[in-house]
Amino acid sequence: MQIIFLGTSAGIPTKRRNVSALGLRLENEKEWYLFDCGEATQHQILKTDLSIYNLSKIFITHLHGDHIYGLFGILASKNMQRAISPLEIYAPKGIKELLECVIKYSNLNLHFELKIFEITKKDVLKFEKFKIYTIPLSHSITSYGYVLVENDRPGRFDVQKAKNLGIPEGPLYAKLKNKEIVILEDGRVFDGNDFVGPPKKGKVVIIGGDNDNPLLFKDFNNADLMIHEATFTQKDFDNLEKSYKHTTSKQLAIAAKELGVKKLIITHISPRYDSDERVNELLEEAKKYYKGEVKVAYDFMKVVL
Ligand SMILES: [Zn+2]
Ligand SMILES: [Zn+2]
Repeated sequence: MQIIFLGTSAGIPTKRRNVSALGLRLENEKEWYLFDCGEATQHQILKTDLSIYNLSKIFITHLHGDHIYGLFGILASKNMQRAISPLEIYAPKGIKELLECVIKYSNLNLHFELKIFEITKKDVLKFEKFKIYTIPLSHSITSYGYVLVENDRPGRFDVQKAKNLGIPEGPLYAKLKNKEIVILEDGRVFDGNDFVGPPKKGKVVIIGGDNDNPLLFKDFNNADLMIHEATFTQKDFDNLEKSYKHTTSKQLAIAAKELGVKKLIITHISPRYDSDERVNELLEEAKKYYKGEVKVAYDFMKVVL
């Protein structure tokens, strides 16, 4: 799968970073999914090889503006492009009323079907090629994390081996791929299991919403990748005049270690980290507590899993 960060700033956009959004596309798929949709996400999409036309699902972590104000523009643009495939939106309660209100007062006559699903609890959403677990988080408003668990993929069929054994191509190959027993006209018997490699384990990706307790993802230890906010370093957080329901780099790294995740990407970066040196403070703090691969996300950063 491919992941592209479309916005990595917390709260407000900066010259370097737009507000929250992340695109995800599974291998060999044309359609793709969006996680959060801050203002101007569609402008960010224009700078990538993704298109609004092929966007089929949007998962919103919570209804703060920096995570949803881009939705309205995306709906209008998808409509202008005469897209007809349905668009599904998954988000906490309130999204339906909010979108219906905007659609009504901006007279948006949608040509495609908009399906809105409100998330109200810890749940599992089942799709053809993956599942999404919804994880209630701890933030100043209702916020969910999404854990994408890709289905295992069937093992590779060894065509060359079948050819070398003189098995005629065609329907017999389909049977072998299906791990069935095949009997040739000459009497030889083959078991499909001997031609198909081990299944490819589906990847597990944690995509956190705004949250001050990353250990809430405890059911998903050993995830292949954890993408989670760390809005501040611990030092800066301790000196804030007011407390925020966000995670620090130190706290996230300790959690990532405890969960045993294989890779960590920090996002939702406070605008105060406005230079490479400042961003490096977040990274260095995390590296002290988590020894796996860790990165601080930047806009248009791509990850292939
Ligand atoms: Zn936010
Ligand atoms: Zn928030």
